[in-house]
Amino acid sequence: MRKRKSTTCLTCNHRELAGINLALARGVSVRALASRYKLHRDALYRHLKSHLPPQLRASLIAGPDLDVDLDKLRETESQSLLVHLVALRGRLFSILDVAEEAGDGTMLARVAGQLHNNLEITGKLIGSLSSGHTSVTNVLVMPAYVDMRVSLVNALRPFPDAARAVAAVLHTIESKAADDITANPRELAS
Ligand SMILES: [Zn+2]
Repeated sequence: MRKRKSTTCLTCNHRELAGINLALARGVSVRALASRYKLHRDALYRHLKSHLPPQLRASLIAGPDLDVDLDKLRETESQSLLVHLVALRGRLFSILDVAEEAGDGTMLARVAGQLHNNLEITGKLIGSLSSGHTSVTNVLVMPAYVDMRVSLVNALRPFPDAARAVAAVLHTIESKAADDITANPRELAS
């Protein structure tokens, strides 16, 4: 219905096509519609016969969105949401590092909590994206990773050089994982 083929059908070209189709599907008489939409009755009959197959009629009656590919829509939405989550996580990790450097425990806890949520939602999304398989194998997507990361950086606090070196490695891994997730969310789950 969204992809309108080039046609000579006056009904298909009518700007109220959606309303006409819905009315036809609900059984409104062609006669009534013809006068309401200023269409020729024959044109409406032809349209009803040729351009409004039973499946389309059924989906129109059931609800306005049923002719949309729900799975596809869910996937598209999920993937764009995933990209946002991954971008947000990148920022959260940066803030986490700032909090660590500043020794701000309150901020650290708050950002870590937000990262937990972010990772949980991301994990669920990835699970829902790969139908049938829900186990997430990438450790960076697990909330426990944040705990590990915070503990690791805390443990290294007395050793600034080591802390910096580890932070650099973590950054590399995290941004690579973020790129991978963004590029191909399906490959994360197996
Ligand atoms: Zn038509």
